[in-house]
Formats: sequence, C-alpha cells, structure tokens
Amino acid sequence: MIDYLDLKKINHSFEPELSETVGRIVRSGWYLLGEENKGFEREFADYCGTAGCVAVGNGLDALTLIFMAYCSLGLMQPGDEVIVPANTYIASILAVQRAGLKPVLCEPEWETCNIDPERIEALITEKTKAILVVHLYGRACHMPKIKSLAAKYALKIVEDCAQAHGARDGGVRVGALGDAAGFSFYPGKNLGALGDAGAVTSDDEALIDRVRVLSNYGSSKKYVHPFRGVNSRMDELQAAVLRLKLKRLDQDNEKRKQVALRYLQGIRPSSGLCLPAFDDPEAHVFHIFTVFCAQRDALQAFLKERGIQTLIHYPIPPHRQDSMTEFAACSLPITERIHREELSLPISPEMSEEDIRCVIDAINEFLDQVAF
Ligand SMILES: *Cc1c(COP(=O)(O)O)cnc(C)c1O
Repeated sequence: MIDYLDLKKINHSFEPELSETVGRIVRSGWYLLGEENKGFEREFADYCGTAGCVAVGNGLDALTLIFMAYCSLGLMQPGDEVIVPANTYIASILAVQRAGLKPVLCEPEWETCNIDPERIEALITEKTKAILVVHLYGRACHMPKIKSLAAKYALKIVEDCAQAHGARDGGVRVGALGDAAGFSFYPGKNLGALGDAGAVTSDDEALIDRVRVLSNYGSSKKYVHPFRGVNSRMDELQAAVLRLKLKRLDQDNEKRKQVALRYLQGIRPSSGLCLPAFDDPEAHVFHIFTVFCAQRDALQAFLKERGIQTLIHYPIPPHRQDSMTEFAACSLPITERIHREELSLPISPEMSEEDIRCVIDAINEFLDQVAF
C-alpha cells in the first residue's frame, strides 16, 4: 500500500529530537506565549523575509485575523469586497466572511490553477479593498501584474500561504510577496505541527501589533481589552516542534521537487493526462502533485486497485457548497473543470524510489489501456 502521505514516517524522520523537544516542553511548566513562541516568530519572519510574525492557532484564524485587523485599524469596513480565487480551499473564503467582508470570486488560470491576473481588474468596484492570492498546491502566484493592479487601485494584497511554505516568486518568498500573509501548519502541510497551528507574517508593524492583540482577547496588557478579540494562540509545544522542523524545510521541499521531477520525467506524455508545469523551480514546492484527467474517477479507481492512495483537491468547489448559497448563480467553468478533473498523487519528502516507480508504472499502464 502506498499512502498518499505517511505522516508517521515523516515525523519519525525527526526523531529522537522531536520526542526530546516534546518532553522538554512538558517538563518546562510553561505552555503558552513563552520563549518558544517568540523564537519561532523571529525565525519564521527571518525565513520568509518579513519584519514581523505572529504565531496563532491555525491557518483559518491567521487569515481571519488579518482582515479583522484591517477592519480594526479602520482600513476596511463591513461589506467591503475582497477578490478571492474561486478554486481554493474553503478556508480562504471563510476568512473573508468571518471578518464581515464580502468575497468576490475570480476564475483561475488553467495552467497554474492560481488566480488569473487578467481577470481581476473587471471585478474591481468602489468597495474592493483587497486581493487575496492563494499559492495553491504549493505554487507561488506570479505577482508583478497583481502588484501593479493593487498599486493602481490602492488595494491590499493578502496571501494565503497555507500550501506554499518556502516557495518564491522573483526571488522573494511567499509571506513577503504582499502586505500580509497567513500560514497554516496543519500536520500535513509542508511545514506541519503535531496539531493545529498558524502564523501571520508582514512588514507592517501596525498590522502585526493589531493581529497580536486581537489573537489574545483584544488585550493590550493583561486584563485590559481595548478591542474585541478572539483566543487564537500557538501552543509552546507546537512552536518548539515547528522550530525544529523549520530547519529542514528547504531540504524537505527539495526532496518533494525531486519526486515531482521523477513523475514529470516518468509519466509518458498523453493527450489524456495533464501534468503540472515546472518551468520555474523556485516557484513550486509541491505541497500537492496535481494531474488532470477527463477520466479522473477511473484513474483513481485504477490506482486504488494497485494499492496507490490518491486524493482529490477538491471534489466540490466553494461556490457549489451548501454553505455558500450566495454563489449559487455563479458560472465558473475553469474552476469547475479543475474540480472535475484533478487528482493528487502521493508526494512526500520520505517517499521511496520504489514507491515513485510504482506510481509511474501504474499511471502509464492506465494510459496504455484507456483510449482518449
Ligand atoms: C490548510 C489550508 C488553510 C487552513 O489552514 P488550517 O490551519 O487548517 O485552518 C487555508 N487555506 C488553504 C489554501 C489551505 O490549504
């Protein structure tokens, strides 16, 4: 059986340091807002190339807190619009809504699956305050056109970096490509904790300060609450684990790229299967290795029969979810095609050569059998 992602194996590769770290935090008697938190914030800001970082409870909260902070600072107000890619994980859209703002869905490019810069301008209204870019599947959005639109219309650029830790565009890492960025360290992400965790990065000191205050009950100092905040803090345990794992992030991303290269070289070209472009090696950290196939469900069943586990990211687009009826009338053909045809192959830094070979052979066998 080839797992989609073997988290046990991944975390085992950090032993014995990982268990030593957990034990050290247990014995320390200090579990929130301590030295590990401060250390992680400093190290992660340095890694991304930003002045500031706030460690928070999860990725959804990181994104929500950015928009809450902009509202709290008077830069956005309820009902303002944020342009969001239509094909993303639901969290990107929920974050905008939770802050009282209105997501406006934008079609992606078929080639990159990221927001299509050419379609953004037509969606800008007097209420538009921000563009939320999502570096989906681990591929950094190409920013120049988006940046010039943001400058032209005085919009903030917020990044959803939950899938792209370490990816770069033009030599700059995600997290430092816009005005503020949200990260998730959900266990399966390229940088994963032993539970939920997230972070906000930014060069904007006022934004960082407000996110910090809002994430801790709106408290400026203990028992003084000038703002209505939430409770979204990163545990010392998670901060310590992430500091350990951050040291190996670049190396692990490199291993993911090697797996991706093997797939790209080994899977034979076919009109029936679309593989991800890998034209800019720094831009993609392959959180997800996507293939697109009109006979996706047959391919998934075929691989399953051969003991290969795959996933679909994602089976139902946000605008077709029952919780998002305001988008029911939207027609988003590119987004819908992505959701209809996408299949995610196993990929991880710990994947063996034998497993990679097995996946390649099975896909080539499927392509031989099926007429497109
Ligand atoms: C994982 C993910 C999130 C949310 O992160 P959580 O830590 O699970 O809240 C947000 N956006 C995208 C694109 C994600 O993949």
